[in-house]
Amino acid sequence: MFNDFCQIDELFSEDELMIQNIVRDFTNKEIIPIIGDCFEKCIFPKDLVKKIADLGILGIVTPEQYGGAGMSYTHYGLAMQELERGDSSIRSFCSVQNSLVMFPILEYGTEDQKNKWLPKLATGECIGCFGLTEADAGSNPAEMLTNAVETENGYLLNGSKMWITNGCIADIAIVWAKLDNKVRGFIVEKGTPGFSTNEINHKFSLRASVTSELIFNNCEVKKENILLSTGMRAPLSCLTRARYGIAWGVIGAAMGIYENTLKYTKDRKQFGRPIAGFQLTQDKLVWMLTEIIKAQLLNWRLGKLMDSNNATPANVSLVKRNNCEIALKIARVARELHGANGISNEYDIIRHSLNLESVKTYEGTHEMHTLIVGKEITGESAFV
Ligand SMILES: Cc1cc2nc3c(=O)[nH]c(=O)nc-3n(C[C@H](O)[C@H](O)[C@H](O)COP(=O)(O)OP(=O)(O)OC[C@H]3O[C@@H](n4cnc5c(N)ncnc54)[C@H](O)[C@@H]3O)c2cc1C
Repeated sequence: MFNDFCQIDELFSEDELMIQNIVRDFTNKEIIPIIGDCFEKCIFPKDLVKKIADLGILGIVTPEQYGGAGMSYTHYGLAMQELERGDSSIRSFCSVQNSLVMFPILEYGTEDQKNKWLPKLATGECIGCFGLTEADAGSNPAEMLTNAVETENGYLLNGSKMWITNGCIADIAIVWAKLDNKVRGFIVEKGTPGFSTNEINHKFSLRASVTSELIFNNCEVKKENILLSTGMRAPLSCLTRARYGIAWGVIGAAMGIYENTLKYTKDRKQFGRPIAGFQLTQDKLVWMLTEIIKAQLLNWRLGKLMDSNNATPANVSLVKRNNCEIALKIARVARELHGANGISNEYDIIRHSLNLESVKTYEGTHEMHTLIVGKEITGESAFV
């Protein structure tokens, strides 16, 4: 149990804390006991999907009329924090489903698309993925080569997407492609002629998450499956929401790492005393705790800005950037404090540490978020 040193819980409503406690219990009972094995064997625990849906956290901010829970972004953040205390892979699954699949359908979909897909996505009956990144278009997705051509019956998609979370297990993919040189979103259903997926193997990070390549070879997308948005603003608005969840999630991972490390240093004896008694160890533990508390406060504030619709993309970038960096640094310091045990999957530290390497990179690298905030404060774009 994380020691709430600065009584941050007081900032949250009873209702928000209730969701946090429900997800915390779920993580303790359902994720932590199995996740080390899943990581080692590269298995996504798909049977958790229905259980997560039953908690109401797929579609947590989606209106109830579409099968969602209609809760706030603060609820969403606390849920992501607690899930990632278990593992970044499970939180990644939920971020994709909520922010990268349900959000674009809600925001840019037709009424028919919302009614058809959102309730099934909320129950986990349908799994989604989000295809923006390509092998040669990562930090600058506007350079994408995947394109669509209008036909009599719909659209023909050609190209490929790389590093797509949930890709091989998804029933639908939200795919971004250029139509008449403008970025458009398409709902590509599993089994559509010309659509195939390949699993990306050999990962040393997010091993309990499915990561895939999506291939479109004259893929025939139905006319009714195009989203209404035009331009990069739409995929970027999805990323803003996913980055928000990440900012909370990584601090959940850091909280888990800190709790385990505090316990380990109290138990582990060298030179006849617990290593927690050494000044150098205490310096590390105090630094970890301080950075976690600072990040929790940032998350709380960002949550309130999201709830009042006042958060800017640059606000989200600042917090995603800070929290990912801090969580990864905490994981690395915790690894040192665990000595040799720190590299074993019998302890959670190396798993979290390796996962956080991906989380710091995806949804915009540390550098991209520096440039986004830099542009906001100086008025100068340093991207090229
Ligand atoms: C496990 C995992 C899951 C993912 N899931 C998804 C998903 O579901 N959907 C999806 O669409 N994508 C997904 N991604 C892709 C992810 O978003 C990209 O990897 C990320 O945006 C970075 O792109 P890149 O890997 O091509 O790196 P690059 O863009 O090639 O960047 C390489 C390095 O160059 C730096 N760099 C680039 N441009 C600049 C610049 N102008 N100034 C300074 N530095 C610069 C970067 O910061 C980075 O350090 C996933 C990635 C991973 C690892």
